[in-house]
Amino acid sequence: MKYSALKGAHDIFSPEINIWQRVEKIAEDVFSAYGFQEIRAPIIESTDIFVRSIGETTDIVEKEMYTFSDKAGRSITLRPEGTAPVVRCYVENHLYNLPAPQKFFYSGPMFRYERPQAGRFRQFFQIGVEAFGIEEPKIDAEILSMLKQFCNKIGLKELSFEVNSIGCERCRPDYKKALVDFFSSRVDALCQDCKRRLDHNPLRILDCKVEGCVNLREGVPKVTKFLCDECREHFNTFLSLLKLLDIPYVLNPDMVRGLDYYTRTTFEVTCKDLGAQKAVAAGGRYDRLVEDLGGPPTPAIGFAIGMERITTLIKSSGKQKVPVPYVFIATIGEPAEKEGLIIADRLRQDGIWVEIGYPGNSLKSQMRRADRLSARYVLIIGDDEINSGKLKWKRLSDSSQGEISIQEVCNFFISMGSDLNI
Ligand code: ATP
Ligand code: MG
Repeated sequence: MKYSALKGAHDIFSPEINIWQRVEKIAEDVFSAYGFQEIRAPIIESTDIFVRSIGETTDIVEKEMYTFSDKAGRSITLRPEGTAPVVRCYVENHLYNLPAPQKFFYSGPMFRYERPQAGRFRQFFQIGVEAFGIEEPKIDAEILSMLKQFCNKIGLKELSFEVNSIGCERCRPDYKKALVDFFSSRVDALCQDCKRRLDHNPLRILDCKVEGCVNLREGVPKVTKFLCDECREHFNTFLSLLKLLDIPYVLNPDMVRGLDYYTRTTFEVTCKDLGAQKAVAAGGRYDRLVEDLGGPPTPAIGFAIGMERITTLIKSSGKQKVPVPYVFIATIGEPAEKEGLIIADRLRQDGIWVEIGYPGNSLKSQMRRADRLSARYVLIIGDDEINSGKLKWKRLSDSSQGEISIQEVCNFFISMGSDLNI
């Protein structure tokens, strides 16, 4: 019997894991500077939380959720996205009683039953942020600035910040009517799903990926033409703040996003190097969701970054840094092995990455391993070295070498501490 990971799920290990850890660290550092604190919500939630928030006529709820009954017959769903669980937590714990804004970030796996392909998986990872309690577009601009900084720090280039406003419940009815008018004359050419969406949720037709529906959208009314005065002002102020913060943006009046909870500001960060699945991050406002999930009216905004797409870009840029051991201690003979183990232990207590040889490994095979690991230094210990108390070190990058006494060897490497980050 041969086991393999489930279709659309994947293992992440060295050397790729190093990219993931670096991205997660940068996200944490950047988000912390903006006052966002980590939140760890469960991966499983009651199904109705997602149906209610994401919307019954969305692709996610119609086709993509991993839903099952638990032993007590409850309907449980593996989270397909991170916002609804954070909102559920915010409401359940009455976090709205704390001073606004309340700002959170999360990082973890999401699950969607999608057709696996480049940039699309069934278990995929997102890093996301959510900020609650501020209606002013100032926080929208801060969030975009934070996302831009994150992208800069991980070295992503050729990115485009696409922005839009999809209005609020006041401007929505007029826009929906315009969409129904537009698509009604073309209803025969719509896919089965969109025919249904036309009655229930015409905005969703704008997000359909079926080619026939995409082509049909030529000349469709633009949402920005239907914004009420408040939404228009909100959007214009947001755009002026983006200019103030020097964030280049592209207006995309066709972007409605794939989930129903969005209101007003929506945005996507795209990278043309990614091909068809080009959105690396996406988000927007969801000013009604807290109320929909049982809390008081609370404006909110967030985004999610697709980790696989980010790590793919970093990999293809060839700029990945793989950590290497600092010292490899090669030993020959039992006394040397013991001495090597003590030295390794002492250095490791100082946080220095040390690799050692094991009984039965010839010096040659130990040196080969040190080479393969790209260890910075090799320390060689045999009977002669034990007797003389002098150990030989070698720097693999330039083959320079020298001797150091057993008593001083630990300080020798520890004192080079600043060199460790090279
Ligand atoms: P798409 O239009 O690509 O299907 P979406 O609207 O479903 O995206 P969101 O729910 O907004 O995406 O998720 C935000 C980000 O998460 C996306 O921009 C993308 O980078 C990533 N993402 C979404 N679905 C997947 C998936 N199945 N596999 C890998 N990454 C994904
Ligand atoms: Mg999708």
